[in-house]
Amino acid sequence: MLKLTMTKPLFVFRMLAPVAALCILSLYSQVPQPNGAGVEPGVLPAKWISGGPKCMEEPEWQIHEYNADLYILRESGCTHYEKPFLYVIFGNDKVTLIDTGAGQNDISRVYDLVVDKWLKRKGRTSIQKMVIHTHGHGDHIAGDSQFTNRKDIEFVPFDIPSIQKAFNITTWPTSIGKLDLGGRTLDVVPIPGHHNTDVAFYDKRTGLLLIGDTLYPGRLYVTYWDQFEKSIQRIVDFTDGKIITHIVGCHIEQTSTPYLEYPIGSFYQPSEHTFEMSRGHLLELHSALIGLKGKPTRLAFRDFTIWPLGPEVRTEMSTTRKATEDRLRPKMWNQTP
Ligand SMILES: [Zn+2]
Ligand SMILES: [Zn+2]
Repeated sequence: MLKLTMTKPLFVFRMLAPVAALCILSLYSQVPQPNGAGVEPGVLPAKWISGGPKCMEEPEWQIHEYNADLYILRESGCTHYEKPFLYVIFGNDKVTLIDTGAGQNDISRVYDLVVDKWLKRKGRTSIQKMVIHTHGHGDHIAGDSQFTNRKDIEFVPFDIPSIQKAFNITTWPTSIGKLDLGGRTLDVVPIPGHHNTDVAFYDKRTGLLLIGDTLYPGRLYVTYWDQFEKSIQRIVDFTDGKIITHIVGCHIEQTSTPYLEYPIGSFYQPSEHTFEMSRGHLLELHSALIGLKGKPTRLAFRDFTIWPLGPEVRTEMSTTRKATEDRLRPKMWNQTP
């Protein structure tokens, strides 16, 4: 009779192998089969409105249903060349609007419209409304005054103490906070560097990482280089082992041609880059920053450009913006696609 024996090292290896396999899975994220990863799916449009070709015909806002409980709004370039993306995310108890747009807009009407339709769809009569921000730049807070005096809105200003309090971030910027919407909790990760108030929101339910102006197809303006490096490291660490379906920002400035951008001020962008990015882009940015060894440098990649800001760069940007707008504005009612 054959007697099976196992040496001690082999026995230990066999015992630990499943643990090691689990560790590897968590390192390389995530699920053993391409089975949807257990997240709530959503759809993104093949094309977004940008700002034309005819500004008379284009709606001021595009309301896109990612899924029944998450909506992405895009402001038209005919209103403001920044044409930011905003988000409306529903939990069971609360709904939040993320950012309030650029220029003279009517975001409170659009937010009410989305919430009213959602209530009708769900057969409900009310839900607590919130307004929060990705960061405090003018093109993300222009509609704030439409909400600050409304009694039915829980409004979170974009200063750091208010952000810490609202999301229970104990130490800025190294602690991670939470936003509980009822049956749906967003992780809130401080990522200053583009601005001093940047935060990213991770929605485990859909796997979306909302990253503000820190990573999108376009010019990644870096105001505080040192903080930006640390924040990118922090968000890389945070996302390690998590399901990230899309990284979504607030702008598109890149064309659909690799390495080619629309200059600042371009309000009509008929051949835009796709909106969504992946964790691969985040890792590309991370490795580029490591390679730059702390030296702020403008550096173009296929889908985005690292763009450190300084006084001369700001002057260059405002000159380009004016020239672009002066060239395009006279044609805004009848542009060539
Ligand atoms: Zn910004
Ligand atoms: Zn912005």
